[in-house]
Amino acid sequence: MPVASIYIETHGCQMNEADSQYIADRAASAGYAVAERAEDAHVVILNTCTVRDNAERRAYGRMGHLKSLKNAHPALKLIVTGCLAEQDRDRMRLIAPHVDAVFGTSELKQLGDAITRWREEFSETDAGEELVLRMPIGGSPDCVAGAFSPVRGFVTVQRGCSYYCTFCIVPHVRGRFDHRPMAEVLSEVRQRVEEGAREVMLVGQTVNSYRDPAQDGDFGRLCARVAQIPGLERLTFISPHPKDFTREMLRELSQIPQMNPRMHLPLQSASDVMLRRMNRKYTFSQYMEKAEWIREFFPDAAITTDFIVGFPGETEQDFQATLDCVRSGMFANAYMYIYSKRRGTPAAHWEQVEPAVASERHARLADAQNAVARAYHERKIGTQVRTLVQGVSKKDGSKLAAKTLDNVTVIVSQPPDYEERLYASEPWLDVRIDSGHKWGCDGTVVGRARRFADRGSPVKTALINLLTA
Ligand code: SF4
Repeated sequence: MPVASIYIETHGCQMNEADSQYIADRAASAGYAVAERAEDAHVVILNTCTVRDNAERRAYGRMGHLKSLKNAHPALKLIVTGCLAEQDRDRMRLIAPHVDAVFGTSELKQLGDAITRWREEFSETDAGEELVLRMPIGGSPDCVAGAFSPVRGFVTVQRGCSYYCTFCIVPHVRGRFDHRPMAEVLSEVRQRVEEGAREVMLVGQTVNSYRDPAQDGDFGRLCARVAQIPGLERLTFISPHPKDFTREMLRELSQIPQMNPRMHLPLQSASDVMLRRMNRKYTFSQYMEKAEWIREFFPDAAITTDFIVGFPGETEQDFQATLDCVRSGMFANAYMYIYSKRRGTPAAHWEQVEPAVASERHARLADAQNAVARAYHERKIGTQVRTLVQGVSKKDGSKLAAKTLDNVTVIVSQPPDYEERLYASEPWLDVRIDSGHKWGCDGTVVGRARRFADRGSPVKTALINLLTA
């Protein structure tokens, strides 16, 4: 292995993605190159999730797979971090003794320091500019795609959560709210933009509950100040809590020119009985009022959501309320999960819905939302949209994945004159939408631009496209 290299595999939510970016930054500063496969790395980081049972099983499965690699290369450092590491630290040492070190979510700085120290142990040869960690785009299988895209920056604004939804493990493993000082957030956004980020995503478990510890303002003010940073082209955030959106905050957000027209508004269930049992702190009608405000201030926004199906005590009538809500077509996209028991949470002790019943409800809900999402995507056919490139498509290496401003994935063939270096310098692709599917759209690149506000310049058309046009 000629160059010290690191492989980071990220499971779970954007919070983990942001943490992986921090680890990647520390590794880049210490002189590591990125490896696209664990087999090619000196340091392998598994950033784990524990929000659902299958995420936990997958993480232990990956630790098992990586054991043979560790056996073949004993000098390799195998590190586990993330929520499962925080929750299962002792158990992990018993089950996976081949793991070199475990760092909880509150120990990222120590992990960065360790990576820096280990760098000395790996021999230095010609790293080459193109191997610098920031350049590769896209994740590896099972990872969050685009984790290290140079054109998208993730900036954590708060850690933990104090809301204690009865199904959720987050407050137990990440602790209560810990808001970063606004000055620190602004400085990190500035740094990301200087490094080439065109879009910044502000990340927090309940991001819109943000309060500057120095009393310098709330989430609306934070976004307004972030937007003033020169060079920032687009701004987005995840994941807000419906309870924390006020009309005033939405009005303030709508006045930010760079704000993307996408609002994630996690509902979980449309039954008030379920919402109360989940401790969600809003009723269905209060939720709908927030959705109305979003429509008022962002008329073209895509509202996306999360649902939990089969929560303890969910009756067919409760489920029907959720199904009716989905069928109304109000969500451009929805992430739907079957309830999964989490150790230490109240709902884990309640009477559970039969797995077969929960699966059947989940399938019905998915069918209903898939039809809505497909229709949403099909409405884009024939239009030309500006998208931000995310990297090479995970399914087909000859194609690129890009995102519209309303967060729809668009898959396009790589223009014939497209080179990897252009990902960073000309990341805006003008795409003609050719077809819509439940997952997103297929399209054809017709232009590209250096800056979001620039007029796109036409791309060369592949001969095959000309022949089939
Ligand atoms: S708001 Fe609820 S679901 Fe979201 S992180 Fe906090 S406890 Fe978990």
